[in-house]
This record gives sequence, structure tokens and C-alpha cells, in this order.
Amino acid sequence: MPLEIYNTLSRSKQPLRPIEPGRVGLYVCGMTVYDYCHLGHARLFMAFDMVQRWLHTLGIGVTYVRNITDIDDKMIKRAAENGETIGALADRFIGYMHEDFAALGLLVPDSEPRATHYVPQMLDLIDLLQQKGLAYQADDGSAGETGQGDVNFAVRKFLNYGKLSGKSIDELRAGERVAIDRSKRDPLDFVLWKSAKPAEPQWPSHWGLGRPGWAIECSAMASETLGKTFDIHGGGPDLVFPHHENEIAQSEGANGVPLANVWMHCGALRVGDEKMSKSLGNSWTIRDALKKYDGEVLRFFLLRPHYRSQIALTESLIEEARIALNRLYTALRDTGAEDRPPLDWNESHARRFSDAMNDDFNTPVALAALFDLATEINRSRSPQLAGQLRALGGILNLLQQDPTTFLRRSSSDHDSDTTGIELLISVRATAKKEKNYEEADRVRKALLDKGIVLEDGAGGTTWRRR
Ligand SMILES: [Zn+2]
Repeated sequence: MPLEIYNTLSRSKQPLRPIEPGRVGLYVCGMTVYDYCHLGHARLFMAFDMVQRWLHTLGIGVTYVRNITDIDDKMIKRAAENGETIGALADRFIGYMHEDFAALGLLVPDSEPRATHYVPQMLDLIDLLQQKGLAYQADDGSAGETGQGDVNFAVRKFLNYGKLSGKSIDELRAGERVAIDRSKRDPLDFVLWKSAKPAEPQWPSHWGLGRPGWAIECSAMASETLGKTFDIHGGGPDLVFPHHENEIAQSEGANGVPLANVWMHCGALRVGDEKMSKSLGNSWTIRDALKKYDGEVLRFFLLRPHYRSQIALTESLIEEARIALNRLYTALRDTGAEDRPPLDWNESHARRFSDAMNDDFNTPVALAALFDLATEINRSRSPQLAGQLRALGGILNLLQQDPTTFLRRSSSDHDSDTTGIELLISVRATAKKEKNYEEADRVRKALLDKGIVLEDGAGGTTWRRR
């Protein structure tokens, strides 16, 4: 079964046909580097890490470009708050991002273009758009320091605006609360070049001093690094509209050819329970999560659901992932597997794994094959099957640590801890049944002192860490 990928543009799965046989160009919208990366970012970049690893396994080379937005409103605001230059802020958080991504075992991009290094290319693109009647300079409302207005893209002039979302301009407008801006001919028109405001970074252009809009950055960097048309453009679910719709309008409007053949979007990561959402907001940083969990546990947690489905972020689901990963490592430890075992693609679990991955990267089904393999290993004690398990895990950069070391680190504290908690909960339940409320309260308080919060519900008592 050849690889098929779900294309947001066609809303269907289709076979991958690289422009250059044996090699794929992949552009993924990267970070705006004003803060630490959170687990939502980890989810996005993990999805495209998995995609690349499977393409490599199929013998397809990947040129991976992940851009850096180092100029925008948030960068300007944060740098001013911190009393540092925008460049220093960017450098600092790019460094943290690289550390976090390395801890998650993510592949390093072939190119990591920074927006501020591509301003001339952005200006060329805007020029072309204006020549083609797709861009106009606003004459009122947005005039900056130099008295010249923003340059906007005229969405009504681009026939295919909305094709990625599958909506017309009017439908898109109805679905969004679009602010009325007198400088725009249509409320959905978006800015290509923002006229300079005092004390903001600015570059000269024939529309006056200013700085680029967000989408033009990606259009310019993608074409510059991968060509006018490339194979796969990826991003988070919230980028379909307006960001990617705008990239398409700009690039295709200027160049007259498709920007990307396949558009891939991963699902969202949502904070799964209210308590967690309250304490963490929507932003559990990767570094905080790494203080608590091994990078491979987080990796496994993020790869278990299909990349297009939504992930609920709860500690109990990460715990589940940890315990499941321990099961696989236990099968490896007890049977012994070589460090770099050869993989037999004719073996039935490997075939299931491969068929699942070729079906739009169906990792839940692929990983299920690993668990069946582990069950068989536990029964047969076969070192060959253990080798097969490790080799298949290795495709997704899993199961490559020394099993004994991994299990010692990942199991002991947590599991004895968990067992102790469950034990105390049952002690408390018995006390309550016996109407010994004093004892029940004492147990609750003892757990609370250890940071464990109990919740009594219809289905019994559950617990979570505070
Ligand atoms: Zn982008």
C-alpha cells in the first residue's frame, strides 16, 4: 500500500507524488520567538517529525524548512517590557526552543530562516502583487510616521481566496468577527506592509518605512528556500484561516503557480480538564513538562493519537502513556534486544505498522502493533521479536534507550507513589463506609499535604496532583 496523505486543500487522502522523485520539500510555520514553547507547539512539531521519519523510512529524502518569526507585535511588546532588543529576545528564545526540541528528540530542520533576514524578498513579492493589481496602499487611516499608509492585499481580486478553507469570502467574513478598518477595501484584506510606527523596527521601501505583515514572511521564505511550488506545507489547525489562506493568495497571486501540492494540518492540543486549565492556562511549557516526565514519555504521549485528532492534555493521560511505554521497555528488557537490530518487513507486525503509517500516518494503529508484539514477546521470549519491536519503535525515535536504565528512572518513584495513593484512597473509603469521618479526613489531609487532591464522584474517588 503506497503512502496516502490527507490534503486539507482537496479534503481527501491522496497518494504522495513528490515533484522531484525521491525527495520532498516540507515547510512548517514555526515559532514566534518571544516566549517558551508549550506542549501545543510540541504537538505540532512532533507531528511533522513523525511525518519526516516515516518518509525517511520509505527512502524519501526531506528538505525540512521551519521558519522563525522574529518580528511582530508580540516581539516588539515583549522586548520593550523586558528592556532588551528584539534581536536579543529572539536569540534567547531560539536557544531555549532548540534545547526543548532536542529533549523531545525532534529532527533538526535543514533550514531555519529568520523573517528579518528576508525583507528584500518580501518587498519583491509585494511589488509583484501591486503590479498585478492584487495589492494597494491605503490612503487613509493607517498612515504612519512617514505619512504613507499600510499596503494591503485585495482579497476580492484573488479568485481563489478561501479555497483552503473551502469557503467563499462572504462565508469567511460571516464566520469571523472582522474589525472594520477604514483603510481596507474589504474587511478581510490583510496587511502586507505595515507603515512605520515610532520606536518600532522599520525597513525602507517604496511604500515608505515599515515592516512586513506575518503571512508575507512565510510566502517569501518558503519560495526562497523550497521554490515557488513545493510538496508539503504544514502547520497547526488554527493556521488554515487566515494565515495559510493568505500565504496562498500572496504566493499564487504573485507567481501564478500553486504554492504547495499538499497542505497538512495537525489537530489541536487542548487542556483536558478544567482544573489543569485553571492552573496552567493553555500553556504548559515543554521545559516544565520535562521536569516531570522523560522526553520520550512526552513523545509517546503526543504520538499515540492520530496527528489530525485533537489531544486532551491531562496528567492522567500522560501517566497512561508513561505506563504503556514502560510495558514496551519491559518486553525489551526481559528478552534482550540488540542496540541496532535489523528490521524484517515481511514479519506480520511490521507489515501492520507499515500499512498503518502509509494510511495517512495512522500512528495509533501502528503503535497497537507494537503492543501486540510486546504481548507475543512476553509469551515467546523471542529475542528476534524483541529486536523487531525495538527496530519498529526506532522508526518513531522510540525505544532507543537502555531498557533497564529507562525503567529504573521512569517506574520506581512514580509507581510506588501511585500504589501508595491508591492504597490510602481505599483506606479512606473503608473509613467512610464505617462512618469514621475523622479517619477519612485525616487520610484526605495527609494526601493533600503530598500535593494529591481527591475528588469524590458518582463513580468513586479519583485523584490528581495539585
Ligand atoms: Zn506561515
